[in-house]
Amino acid sequence: MIYFDNAATTKPFDCVIDAMSVFSKEHFFNASALYKGGMVVDKLVGEARGVVADKLGVDAGELYFTSSATEANNWVLLNGIKNKKGNVVISKGEHTSVYECGNVLKSRGLEVRWVELKKDGTIDVEDLMKKVDESSCLVSIIHASNETGAINDIESIGRMIKSKSPNALFHADGAAAFGKIGCKTGGFRVFVGTISHRVLDFYTISAHKVCGPKGIGALYINKNRNIAPFIVGGGQERGMRSGTENTAGIIGFYKAVDKFFSLQAAGSGHIIREIHDFIRQSLTQNGWIYNGAENTTGYILSLSNPKIKAEVLMRLLSEEDVLIGLGSACANKLSQNRVLSALGATKAQVEGSIRLSFSPLNTMGEAEIAVQKIVQKQKLLEGKLIK
Ligand code: PMP
Repeated sequence: MIYFDNAATTKPFDCVIDAMSVFSKEHFFNASALYKGGMVVDKLVGEARGVVADKLGVDAGELYFTSSATEANNWVLLNGIKNKKGNVVISKGEHTSVYECGNVLKSRGLEVRWVELKKDGTIDVEDLMKKVDESSCLVSIIHASNETGAINDIESIGRMIKSKSPNALFHADGAAAFGKIGCKTGGFRVFVGTISHRVLDFYTISAHKVCGPKGIGALYINKNRNIAPFIVGGGQERGMRSGTENTAGIIGFYKAVDKFFSLQAAGSGHIIREIHDFIRQSLTQNGWIYNGAENTTGYILSLSNPKIKAEVLMRLLSEEDVLIGLGSACANKLSQNRVLSALGATKAQVEGSIRLSFSPLNTMGEAEIAVQKIVQKQKLLEGKLIK
């Protein structure tokens, strides 16, 4: 099988599954229990939090585990600005878990200002700066697009927002960025640890995008910010997110992050970029349109062919064990791809759009086979259209 739908979810690393299995068998105790087994679990969870926080470039005390990136985004958007007045600025390129929160805020009576996208899938910074003003209470911008891989320069955007509206809280959804950019130093510090540390108030990550388990994510909350707890109850996560911790998930998250970052440091990102560029070049030579920026993570490749229905192509490929995506898995149930439409794709381009996404487990050999099969099926479908 060739699996090129890693933006939907990645296959967990073997070391992640092994660690979770051992942990579930031997360390199943509740982390809040006061006997030895519970205290050991609590200590191991603390160590895992330390590693994930370190890769992000933040203090362990600023990282809160959640059930997912969706939960982390909901926490910020729906609770981060409780009792605040003013406007909320959100880009049109957000994942549905932010976008839909925008609609909830609107229904609560807040003014929501939507920021336009440029043709390359990045946000229109000029439009953003027109929409942010002194009464903006929250700005939420996706770090790297889960549809196109396009990177928004969170650091400079953050600085601009704070200089225009110092009280506005700034959130970035990093689920498609974490581990994939800014890892040159073996960590994520270049983004969050230095200047961005001051401009970013909240940052979202998810384990299953970096070969970790599903059902575990985390939210960075700048220690100088107050935010209401999202779930109240037993007081876990320092009173901020109650519910017995998904301890095996946390251990899996840490193992995944550790391996993903060391592979990245060893050059896995370059191989992925080569795979990305090879497929991009091969398919654009065959009439496909590239939907994306030059400044991309390289882990996601969105292409359109207005002459075909991508869903039919995807089904034909899956019969041959080549698995690709059609755009955000969470948005597949929606009839239109909102983000591609926002960057100016026509209806035919949207319907003919595929999303290939990669992980360090992919190889160039797989890319060569996938290209061959995509072009073969494409010709078949285009031929049918001509007849
Ligand atoms: N934000 C982005 C940018 C994503 O790519 C995803 C995953 N599709 C999410 C949020 C939601 O992540 P999770 O599945 O952990 O809820």
